[in-house]
Amino acid sequence: MAYRYWCGECRHRSPWLREYEIEQAHTDHYVAEHPRIAPEGRIESNGKNSEGASGYLLVLVVLALLLILPAVFQR
Ligand SMILES: [Zn+2]
Repeated sequence: MAYRYWCGECRHRSPWLREYEIEQAHTDHYVAEHPRIAPEGRIESNGKNSEGASGYLLVLVVLALLLILPAVFQR
């Protein structure tokens, strides 16, 4: 599984990294961009990401059915 972090101070997000790389990348960004601020933000894993994508797809299918069904019954 890959991880990336979203900066708590700006819109920066890291590329997808391994778990052991993420802490260093986070610290490096804060040292470079936000010195004297304690690192915050959140870490995202791409496992959650794919679940979110399939949920999104389900919503699209339901919406498509809602749009198509009334058109079928009007005939
Ligand atoms: Zn930042």
